[in-house]
Amino acid sequence: MTGHRLYVTVSIGITIFPDDGADAETLLKNADNAMYRAKAEGRNTYQLSTHELSRSTQERMTLESGLHLAMEREEFEVWYQPQVDVETNAIIGMEALLRWRHPDRGIIAPADFISVAEERGYIVLIGDWVLRQACRQAREVRDKGLPDFRVAVNLSARQFREASLVTSVLAALKESDLPPNCLELEITESVAMENVALTLQLLRDLRAIGVTIAIDDFGTGHSSLSYLRQFPIDALKIDRAFVEDLPDRFEDAAIVKAVIALAAGLNLRVVAEGVETKPQLDFLREQGCREVQGYYFSYPVRGEELLRLLEQGLAVTS
Ligand code: C2E
Ligand code: MG
Ligand code: MG
Repeated sequence: MTGHRLYVTVSIGITIFPDDGADAETLLKNADNAMYRAKAEGRNTYQLSTHELSRSTQERMTLESGLHLAMEREEFEVWYQPQVDVETNAIIGMEALLRWRHPDRGIIAPADFISVAEERGYIVLIGDWVLRQACRQAREVRDKGLPDFRVAVNLSARQFREASLVTSVLAALKESDLPPNCLELEITESVAMENVALTLQLLRDLRAIGVTIAIDDFGTGHSSLSYLRQFPIDALKIDRAFVEDLPDRFEDAAIVKAVIALAAGLNLRVVAEGVETKPQLDFLREQGCREVQGYYFSYPVRGEELLRLLEQGLAVTS
């Protein structure tokens, strides 16, 4: 390969015999953990293993060993957060959000284990399971007489790079007999930008199946507006960070207005996340944002609870 510059970085974990361990297995494990710390420090660096494992490392190791078994022990659950049409207050869709019911620690949020699952490669299996569960649940909602109801599923970077993604999506749709346009896949900007050529191809393949694509946490990643022209996407999700201080913080108000206008101009739907208050909701509605999700309407809930919310009509939680 000529004419291409490759930037290669290394993350090194160092362990020392006999201070850090007496046998090869312990030493390797410590070196491995030190390497993960090096990666967490931003990569391209080294970390020394210390025999006094830090609390965070210990915690991480407990999580790792638990994660390994969580799938077969059926400890994962998919919860759903309603997505609401601001004009009608009707639930028009839901986002599938993963939870881990740990035997000792109770419910663990994805922020606390997704990155570990990602690094260790478990995320592909877990993600596939979430996809199938979510499609099945969406099918159940649809059967209640809501043919346009949509479910959104988050994809991790690793899943997105996996060659089997399209096959997995097809299988989940087939198994649940869910029409493809009822499934939305959410990817973040950072995932989309990691390898633009690959993203473009994958998004085309996924779009060809008929599923829709949303860019999650829009505006928070390393984005370039030029991808919005290129990538075949359907929706932008405004990150909670921009919604939090609405309508008072004028910078956020300006950004949100601009994103809504941008989406409208590009013919994309826009979904605002993390709506907790009436003033936030009113502002978004006035600006022309049609879809929202957030604690104002409902926390993420289990599947049965979502069905109940649908039957009763949405009760505002706050
Ligand atoms: P996300 O996709 O941006 O999901 C929105 C997050 O905001 C969820 O957190 C949700 O519970 C939370 N949220 C919703 N409304 C409000 C609100 O009004 N106020 C506040 N403070 N928070 C609100 P959660 O469920 O903890 O998920 C965090 C992140 O974990 C998700 O962010 C997503 O990136 C990731 N994630 C969740 N489930 C999965 C999954 O199945 N696969 C993958 N790869 N990632 C997932
Ligand atoms: Mg999401
Ligand atoms: Mg988000």
